[in-house]
Amino acid sequence: MTGTTEARIRSAMANCSRGEARRMTLPGWVREVGLDPLDDVLGWRDPRSSGRGALLVDGADGLVGIALRAATGGARAAAMCALCRTTHTAGGVALFAAARSGAAGRQGDSVGTYVCADLACARHVRVEKATVALRPVPGTDVAQRRAGLRERALAFVATVTGPPVG
Ligand SMILES: [Zn+2]
Repeated sequence: MTGTTEARIRSAMANCSRGEARRMTLPGWVREVGLDPLDDVLGWRDPRSSGRGALLVDGADGLVGIALRAATGGARAAAMCALCRTTHTAGGVALFAAARSGAAGRQGDSVGTYVCADLACARHVRVEKATVALRPVPGTDVAQRRAGLRERALAFVATVTGPPVG
């Protein structure tokens, strides 16, 4: 089953070549994740190339994976993740760039967004109490934060895979 999960994730990658998807290193835990259904937005840093990462979300048309590149080492001040809206202290959020799908991406067109530097949004939305390092959106519960993460991740995926704006 593990091999199947890995193959499905690689074939779901929407914004990189087949070769790049094949060469991507998946952390061990990702291979163990149940994909049917995938209730969470999963993200990870490539364990062999920390500047690279990926997001995986179950959209209306099935699994979609987005390959990301960290554009910075991390924000120098406290910042909020655009996907899960968790506020982190300095370094906890990083700017990531996702190449657009298809011809636009091959010509260098990309979409940038600030996301939890470890891409572990699914874990961060489950944090019940704010800590010094990590502050969830005040006045929300875990279910609301998970739903919000999913909604914003799908919107981000649509921007990356959709037709160029303008
Ligand atoms: Zn996040």
